[in-house]
Amino acid sequence: MKKNKIALPFPKGKEYNIIQGYNGKFTYNTIFSQYAIDFNLNIGDTITSADNGYVVGVVEDYKDYGTSKKWRDNDKSNYITIYHPNSGLYTQYVHLNHKGALVKLGDYVLKGQPIGIAGMTGFTTTPHLHFNVKIPSDKNGLISTDIEFENGIKGKDLKKKDRVN
Ligand SMILES: [Zn+2]
Repeated sequence: MKKNKIALPFPKGKEYNIIQGYNGKFTYNTIFSQYAIDFNLNIGDTITSADNGYVVGVVEDYKDYGTSKKWRDNDKSNYITIYHPNSGLYTQYVHLNHKGALVKLGDYVLKGQPIGIAGMTGFTTTPHLHFNVKIPSDKNGLISTDIEFENGIKGKDLKKKDRVN
C-alpha cells in the first residue's frame, strides 16, 4: 500500500509537542499501537480529521482515567475512528473528553474538519491526543501502520519533545 499523506490531527496554525513517538515505552509495544504518536493537546483543544472519510467508531461516555494495570488491561478511553476510502487507512483519536465527539457514526468528514475535543480519559497520565493509524491485516484485525504527514513530517522521525505544526 502506498504511503498516504495525511494531515496532522489538529487545526492548521496550532503547534504541539510530541509526548511519545513510535514504540514509546509507556504503551506502544504491540502491533496494535507501535506507530501511535502522542501529541500534547490539552483538555478542551480541538482535534481534526487527518483525511476525508467516514466515522466508523465513536465512544464518548467515559469520564475517568488511571494508570494502574487495571486501566491498561481494560482501557476506558473515549475515542473516534475514521475510515478513509481513498487510502484504506483507519485513523484513531484517543483519550477524548467526556462527550467530546463532534461527529456521529456514519458521518462523512473532510480533512481538517473538527471532529472531537481532547481530554484525559482511559489509560493515561496526562491530557493528550493519542493518534494511531491502522490498516487491516489477515490475522489480527486492524494493526498500527507507519505514517507520513502531508507537510513532509515522517512519523518515524518524531521524537519526544519535538514540536510540530
Ligand atoms: Zn498515547
